[in-house]
Amino acid sequence: MKRPIIIAGPCAVESEEQIIRIAIELKKIGIDYLRGGAFKPRTNPNSFQGLGDLGIKYLLEAKKITGLPIVTELMTIEQVRKYADEIDIIQIGSRNMYNYELLKELGKYSKPILLKRGISATYNEWINAAKYINNGKNVILCERGIRSFDLSTRNVLDIQAIPYIKKNTNFDIFIDPSHAAGNDYMIEPMSLASVIAGCDGLIIEVHDKPEEALCDKEQAITINTLKSIMKKINKLLGD
Ligand code: PEP
Ligand code: MN
Repeated sequence: MKRPIIIAGPCAVESEEQIIRIAIELKKIGIDYLRGGAFKPRTNPNSFQGLGDLGIKYLLEAKKITGLPIVTELMTIEQVRKYADEIDIIQIGSRNMYNYELLKELGKYSKPILLKRGISATYNEWINAAKYINNGKNVILCERGIRSFDLSTRNVLDIQAIPYIKKNTNFDIFIDPSHAAGNDYMIEPMSLASVIAGCDGLIIEVHDKPEEALCDKEQAITINTLKSIMKKINKLLGD
């Protein structure tokens, strides 16, 4: 098994100081990419919607200071045209997996795209969505939990997606345990299980002060918890 790529950072960029502070700490523990949402597709229109353009500016500042490449969600064709060249991996959120015009536009750029699975999308719909992006060139699939009948957890992590995608496609598959579980205490076991199942990467929401996070605070783990998870992953992989 190869070591999975680790993408970590807060759900949302909340201020310049917040993202830089967290990025510096995450750099120290050896993550591969910094995440942070600038354009936030919130279910409730009254929730914090992200800092928008300013959020991208602060993320780029964090990248400049730490050297960490960045992953962030873009939601519209206009945002793609404006920012595709500056973002290292463009995230397409669950809610936009079926936005075929947006997917077609992404195909015009050579940047890697992290395509999240729609909240109730079948594997077939998800794989076809990926093909809208220049026939799947540069697409990484991301399983982030699917909707279930049981509301005890936010979603349910479909860990079977890993062997399915591996057997039936050539796509890499990353796992987002944060939006699947919706609870911080589930992030470690779901991350380790995903590594054992053969995922290519993990994208995890981390905050240095989870209780103060403006977005998804219940699922945010601390930087220390991530450090411990990364240690356990290395142990699993035998180094
Ligand atoms: C996110 O990663 O911040 C996010 C909104 O994820 P999803 O599209 O999976 O809900
Ligand atoms: Mn989130």
